This record gives sequence, C-alpha cells and structure tokens, in this order.
Amino acid sequence: MSKQSTACCIVGGGPAGAVLALLLARQGVPVTLLEQHTSFDRDFRGDVLHASVMEIMDQLGLIDRLFELPHTKIFSAIVDSPEGSIVLDFGMIRSKYPHLTTIHQSQFLAFIVSEASQYDHFKYVMGAKVIELLKENDLVRGVKFRKNQEVHEVEANVTIAADGRFSTVRKLSGMEPMSLTRPIDVIWFRVPRNEGDPEHLFNRSRNGSMLACVNRGDYWQMGMFIPKGTFPQIQAKGMESMQQTLGNLVPEFAERFAGLSDWKSFSILSASSSRLKKWYMPGLLFIGDAAHTMSPLGAVGINYAIQDAVVAANVLAHPLQMGGVTLKHLASVQKQRELPTKLIQAYQGVMQKQVIDSVLNNRKSSPGFKLVKRFKWLRKLIVILVTSGFRRVRIQDQSSMRAL
Ligand SMILES: Cc1cc2nc3c(=O)[nH]c(=O)nc-3n(C[C@H](O)[C@H](O)[C@H](O)COP(=O)(O)OP(=O)(O)OC[C@H]3O[C@@H](n4cnc5c(N)ncnc54)[C@H](O)[C@@H]3O)c2cc1C
Repeated sequence: MSKQSTACCIVGGGPAGAVLALLLARQGVPVTLLEQHTSFDRDFRGDVLHASVMEIMDQLGLIDRLFELPHTKIFSAIVDSPEGSIVLDFGMIRSKYPHLTTIHQSQFLAFIVSEASQYDHFKYVMGAKVIELLKENDLVRGVKFRKNQEVHEVEANVTIAADGRFSTVRKLSGMEPMSLTRPIDVIWFRVPRNEGDPEHLFNRSRNGSMLACVNRGDYWQMGMFIPKGTFPQIQAKGMESMQQTLGNLVPEFAERFAGLSDWKSFSILSASSSRLKKWYMPGLLFIGDAAHTMSPLGAVGINYAIQDAVVAANVLAHPLQMGGVTLKHLASVQKQRELPTKLIQAYQGVMQKQVIDSVLNNRKSSPGFKLVKRFKWLRKLIVILVTSGFRRVRIQDQSSMRAL
C-alpha cells in the first residue's frame, strides 16, 4: 500500500472535480484528483454548456482554445406543451456568449485535465476507485482508493467529494440527500442530423409522450420522457410501435426513426433531483451532483457543478495554501451555492409538474406554462436561471478575497 499526502484530494474527475483541480493547481495548491474510470469517456453525460461556463473559460483565458474543439452553438430553444409553444431566446441574456454550446464531455474533460497537468503539484490518478474515508474521530483526513487491485491512501487537509449523483463518499460519510421530485425515466438515443434540419433545441409533445431533441452537430441527441419503470411495457409493444410514437412526435424525422431497429440503440436513465441538507463535515466538502443531483431539465447540471467548483476554489485556495481550512470555509461554499441551487431545482420541479407531468398524464391544461407564454419577463427569468444562474459566478483573484 502506498501513502501520499496533499493539500486537497478531489474524488471524481467529472466537470466539478476537474475544474476545481485546475483552479486550485493554477493558484499553487497541491491537489490530487482521483477518478475511477480509466478514460474520459462517459456514457450518458450531458454535453450542453451554458453562458456561465463560457464566461469562466474566458476568465481563465481558455475560451479560444476551447472553441477549437468540435462544438455547436445553439441560440434558441422551442418548448412545446399542450398549451402551445414558446421560444426561449438565449440572446435575452447579457453575456458575451448568448448561446448554448455543445461539446463532447469527454473532450471537455480531457481539455481541462490537460490544462491542469501543466502544474507540477497537480496529480491525476485514473482508475482510482475511492473505497474508504480516512478518519480521525469526526475529522476526514483523506481517502483510501483501489487501483489495479492495490489499495492506496491519500492524506489531505481537505477532501472534496465531486463523485456525482451516486456519490460513494456521500454513502461512506453517512450523509443522506433529500429527494425533491418524483423520479421519471428518460429513453436516451440518437438519430443522424441532415442538412436543412433546424439549428435550435426543441421538444415535441403529443398523446402522452414527450421528446427532447438537442442539436449535436452531425446527430440529434434525443431524450424521451416516460413514467418511471414503464420502459419494459414500451418494449413489449414492439419496435414498430416505438417508431410510430416517435414519428407522430416529429413526423419530419419519421424515416430516420425507421432506421432504429435494435433496442440496444436505446438507453434508459433515471432522472431525479435531490439535495444534501449540509454540504460539509470536518475535512470534507460536497460539490456538484454529489451535493445536489439535478434533473436533466434545462441541461444545467454541468453548469451548476462548475459554478460550485469556482466558488469552492475562491473560498479554499488561500486557506489551503496557508494550511488552515476551517469548517467556516466549507460552510461558506454551501452558503454561496445553496440558494442558486434551490432556485434552479424549484424551477425544474415546476417544469416537471407543469410540462412533463401534464403531457405524460394527457392533461390538457398547464397554468404555469400559460403564464410563461404570456409574459416575456418570465421567459427571460427562465433563460437567466438556466444559463447563468441566480448569482453570477466569477473567479476571484486572491487579492480580492474577503477574509473569513
Ligand atoms: C441523461 C442526462 C443528461 C444530462 N444532460 C446534461 C446536459 O446536457 N448539460 C448539463 O449541464 N447537465 C446534464 N446532465 C447532468 C450532468 O451530467 C451532471 O449534473 C454533471 O455531470 C455533474 O457533474 P459532477 O462533476 O458533479 O458529477 P459527474 O459528472 O457525475 O462526475 C462524477 C465523477 O466521479 C467519478 N466517481 C464516482 N465514484 C467514484 C469513486 N468511488 N472513486 C473515484 N471516482 C468516482 C465518476 O466516474 C465521475 O467521473 C444530464 C444528466 C443526465 C442523467
């Protein structure tokens, strides 16, 4: 068994963990990032980045190189419900980047990690599965991880749990998230994109079915929302019935749906929303999905996870350099991020009830949707919440940091 020590040990090399590692490393903080996977490829991860992430990349001087990666810019979304359609125009927000940007998450993560790798005190361990917390009474002093059948230890002044919605660290710590919405399932699949197809993101709803369609350049990433646990019933009706349902939703793509002949092309994902009451304990902080699992509505999870990472770096970099992280610092991260998180999760809850549940239960009326359709300021509020968040997050220079 090997033993190492570092200032900050981050568990999970997803968007939250990777960005936090970069932000700390560039400020001279020794940081070890542990990721259980052996590559950057992740199944079923979101690829949508909003204006807030682009602004953070701009602040880091990385935006031009990020835009060298294959990407698609989406300037509007058309949301369809039994009450009609609304257009969400991302140009409504004050930003240099008034659009969504889709970039393969694997390429985005590889890009961030390669930036962090320029710093000698950054250590990235792939294939490292965290299995135990190192504890001294109530204080978390690091983790044990398994790599290639061997167990290793990392001691750290502070451990960050950025290990996602099924967080192992959360389970090991005994923390229980509160469940916020009734889980629903999403059938995830893709069809090719042809010349002349729309550029915007859109959804369609009809006869108890709802389909979201995201422009991913040369293909459409599609997500069909269904009541929890009903995929086996859909399969039992046969592939032709599935193709017909999809063709009724988007008739102009019917030919492409006819090309879907194998159930292996479809993956089933559970969409749920939850949040920890307390995001920290002595020596340990939760960020990203580990602190608050987001529903895929609005495709905000990566964005809110990265905003958590920025706030965590703003608060922790200096005390980590000085070796004096206190519970107050950890509490400050939750304090700054909890309200924006609560607001977006409340919005997702309303959207789920007013739009998705209305469609899935074949209800004709959704009063919330009617209001959004009527008032432009409500549409603007939604665009701000989704693309920037309630509180704009900026990377702070050490000099401008408030002492805690
Ligand atoms: C179907 C679906 C579509 C989505 N689409 C979008 C979208 O388009 N845009 C968007 O913004 N959000 C989207 N989301 C949400 C988004 O994927 C998450 O909110 C986001 O990835 C959270 O980032 P994170 O870094 O907190 O966690 P994650 O991305 O989950 O990363 C956690 C990392 O921790 C690692 N890990 C886990 N356990 C351990 C362990 N024991 N030891 C070491 N490493 C470990 C994992 O391998 C993983 O790499 C979607 C979610 C779903 C379910």
